[in-house]
Amino acid sequence: MRCRACNDELTDYEATLKDSRADDYFDLCVQCLTSTRQAVFDSELETEYNVLKNYQSSQEESED
Ligand SMILES: [Zn+2]
Repeated sequence: MRCRACNDELTDYEATLKDSRADDYFDLCVQCLTSTRQAVFDSELETEYNVLKNYQSSQEESED
């Protein structure tokens, strides 16, 4: 089995890594997996930040 992103051969460990939410194998090497997860993590952080910002601005509006 090879990494879907960089086409490197996966180790046995890498080949067993699963996306628990999708219940599907990643088919990615650890390096690609790390960069993918980091991107997901960053976008989740950004979403949380925007939600917080919207919440705060709505609070400010209601006090006015
Ligand atoms: Zn890879």
